[in-house]
Amino acid sequence: MKMDNREDLRLFSRSELEIRLSDSGIEKYRAGQIIKWLSRHADSFSQMTDLSKPLREKLEQDFYISAPKSVERFCSKLDSTRKYLFTFESGDCVESVLLEYNHGFSVCLSTQAGCKMGCRFCASSGLGFSRDLTSAEILLQMEYITRDMLETDPDFRIGHLVLMGIGEPLDNYDNVIRFLKLANSPDLFNIGYRNMSLSTCGLVPQIRRLAEEELPITLSVSLHAPNDKLRSSLMPVNKTYPLSKLIPECREYIKKTGRRISFEYALIGGVNDTPECARELAQLLKGMLCHVNLINVNETKSNNFSKSSKEARLLFTNELTKCKINVTSRRTLGADIDAACGQLRRKKLEGAE
Ligand code: SAH
Repeated sequence: MKMDNREDLRLFSRSELEIRLSDSGIEKYRAGQIIKWLSRHADSFSQMTDLSKPLREKLEQDFYISAPKSVERFCSKLDSTRKYLFTFESGDCVESVLLEYNHGFSVCLSTQAGCKMGCRFCASSGLGFSRDLTSAEILLQMEYITRDMLETDPDFRIGHLVLMGIGEPLDNYDNVIRFLKLANSPDLFNIGYRNMSLSTCGLVPQIRRLAEEELPITLSVSLHAPNDKLRSSLMPVNKTYPLSKLIPECREYIKKTGRRISFEYALIGGVNDTPECARELAQLLKGMLCHVNLINVNETKSNNFSKSSKEARLLFTNELTKCKINVTSRRTLGADIDAACGQLRRKKLEGAE
């Protein structure tokens, strides 16, 4: 968080920093040195040993390097999933998850401390909204995960990122777009846009804006219900942006970007998992370049929902497949460490455990 007039060094790409340094009367080439230190996980000016002391002092007058107050780590015993709880000076906390897949490591990042959307099944709902994270605060989650992993794996590299942690990414639009560009920057994490996913509960105007950005990321839309009645009862955002607005906007997004959309659907026992729901969903998505990603609903303290039975899940999947809808299933990782986002923060804020 910005404490004074100084700017966060983590907010700059190399070329932007060159310009900014020139404004402060510092040689442009210093930008490369500084970015290199940041990419080597420095978080203080004193670590930048190839910069003279007077230069470091000058930098410190105009800039700071954002860092969390504390980082707690939770490692799964079932798989290689790790979860990190970041607490900031302001007292706000967010969480991120590191997941290992066959194709490499992926991180799930938070974009806001809290959330305004109030989805009934979500661990973050009821805890309210504290503030947007800056682009630097989203980026530093990757920074600290990398730093931690490098201690035991010198070849560690984050290959994919998903914005599916705490918060609604499109409700923090400018900071999120800036973050995506920084994560893509060759001097920082160099992650290809095709290896980035952004998940939204369906903010229609921002989906339209995103289509114009020309960032070939994957858009995930949290659907969870095939009709307005059910969706509004689970996700209040549906009252503002009902399916009659959301689905045409998604079709438009696909037309503009040529990118396939992933629709997230958490199966909740007896609520949205009937074969009728599957058929209604297939009708809704008919002819669209998309797939449905089925998730097991996480049973959290904040909701009274339970997972679908194996039979219901199978019937639902078969019904969609019959209607020629592509279906994938999200694997459950890190089940023993509450790897689904929001749960650690909830525990911390409620003072439990
Ligand atoms: N606000 C964004 C991203 C954060 S949530 C969004 O709504 O998409 C990331 C994903 O987890 C979303 O698909 C969300 O609907 C889902 N989710 C939240 N709580 C869940 C729960 N208890 N069980 C299963 N999925 C959940």
